[in-house]
Amino acid sequence: MADIVSGKEVAEALKQKLVDEVDELKSNGIIPGLAIVLVGDRPDSLSYIKGAQKRCSEIGIDCRLVQLPADTSEEEFVSRIRQLNQDRSVHGILVMRPLPATISEDRVKYEISPLKDVDCFNPVNMAKVMSGEEGGFAPCTPSAVMEILDYYGIELTGKRVVIVGRSMVVGRPLSMMMLKRHATVTICHTRTVDLAKETSRAEILVAAAGKARMIKKDMVGSGAVVIDVGINFDENGKMCGDVDFEAVKELAGKITPVPGGVGSVTSTVLAKHVIRACRMLIDQEG
Ligand code: NDP
Repeated sequence: MADIVSGKEVAEALKQKLVDEVDELKSNGIIPGLAIVLVGDRPDSLSYIKGAQKRCSEIGIDCRLVQLPADTSEEEFVSRIRQLNQDRSVHGILVMRPLPATISEDRVKYEISPLKDVDCFNPVNMAKVMSGEEGGFAPCTPSAVMEILDYYGIELTGKRVVIVGRSMVVGRPLSMMMLKRHATVTICHTRTVDLAKETSRAEILVAAAGKARMIKKDMVGSGAVVIDVGINFDENGKMCGDVDFEAVKELAGKITPVPGGVGSVTSTVLAKHVIRACRMLIDQEG
């Protein structure tokens, strides 16, 4: 029977460290600030924002929501981002995606200052993740996976890792972060010929496909560490991951639940990135 890996525990431990860091900044008169930019009112974005605001306020970060109407033009959006780039009370900017069709992500992603880009929207930061260069911001979700592995002392060097999903938000950057830590990484996707054959070889299996309970028991090797990034809702409206948790936990070595796994850590990682952005600004200004 697998050990249940608690994302909540990881998030709480990280939160405590961040609270101390913010206290120190505040004693020097600095309050880390995050601006979350939302165009429209997608319920999933609003629900994520609510969680992020709660976490930021617990840590002492000033988190403000910049909500723009759904019909905001690309020019208006860019102008707002440029204002936030200039705003000295804002250290981190998070743009909620997807943006409406009227705004081209491919055009606007270059506008956000890489120094404030706490969720890796700007390709400058993504390039750093891909090349293994330090000093940028990796996306929060793959960073949350790394926090969990590190918290539980799960070594990556030499390990056979299989990631299901190749999106720019999760699978692809995570594969590079794990490669940097010397894992042997296989990335699977919808054209992978024999998915079960690949996944069952994994010593560490990451599911980030967005398909409810698609990873079945016969797709997982005995003793594997199983990290479930998926957030889905089953036919009864119940939140679940990409892994058939009840069955897979019988043979996995460690497993993250949904809810209570990776998702619990993501907003705390966001706060961590805001504090780092704040410190980077202080260092830059000497
Ligand atoms: P995308 O839809 O952008 O990407 C899904 C990836 O999974 C694609 O690469 C796709 O392959 C692959 N895939 C889908 N179905 C299969 C399948 N049957 N077999 C093999 N590969 C498959 O999703 P995201 O990366 O944005 O998100 C993935 C999941 O993670 C979602 O459930 C999302 O809700 C969740 N998520 C969780 C977060 C958290 O904080 N915990 C944050 C962000 C996302 P192909 O490229 O061939 O289409």
